[in-house]
Amino acid sequence: MAQPRILILGAPGAGKGTQSAKITAEFDVDHITTGDALRNNKEMDISDMDTEYDTPGEYMDRGELVPDDVVNAIVDEALSQADGFVLDGYPRNLEQAEELEDMTELDVVLYLDVSEEELVHRLTGRRMDPETGDIYHLEYNPPEDPEVEDRLVQRDDDTEETVKERLSVFQENTQPVIEHYEEQGDLERVDGEQAPDEVWADVKSTIERNA
Ligand code: AMP
Repeated sequence: MAQPRILILGAPGAGKGTQSAKITAEFDVDHITTGDALRNNKEMDISDMDTEYDTPGEYMDRGELVPDDVVNAIVDEALSQADGFVLDGYPRNLEQAEELEDMTELDVVLYLDVSEEELVHRLTGRRMDPETGDIYHLEYNPPEDPEVEDRLVQRDDDTEETVKERLSVFQENTQPVIEHYEEQGDLERVDGEQAPDEVWADVKSTIERNA
């Protein structure tokens, strides 16, 4: 059987990164994530694409979407090299969803459903260990080692103000994408407020059922 082609949708903080890592390990697929790709290219010069700002980082630090042309090119390139994949962070608006339809077919479209109140709580409490890349939460999952605790950093766009902007961008731009897949009858909704292991059990069985 060919490797599954999986799309994972959900608001910022819904757990897409965590679940995608598990999917990658279990199903032996590539993890294609526009957020990480853009974070690694925050300073890239995109001024020749007739954009409002000159680098992706300027959009990201404001919580705004990076222009479609930049993101579509990243995804197109990554998909052309992948057999199976889990696509995370894209499409974030209907134009991107249309582009994606021209690039590939999908076997499973997952949606991690989490309330807005919980999303704000998760994102503003999220911290990263810059030495290992491990993700913690000040309340739900604090590090045991006080040395690790002392060096934790917050992602530039996890501050309260930027989180609010990111969630409103999600409501306005990405909610219609979710409705689009729902109308097509493709959306597999998973309760993302459960404990991570329970979310994973549901994600895994949904993929096995559909792939
Ligand atoms: P994420 O890590 O997925 O929350 O993405 C972080 C930031 O990267 C977003 O707030 C956007 O500024 C940018 N970004 C990621 N994916 C996309 C996308 N598909 N379209 C536009 N901007 C994106």
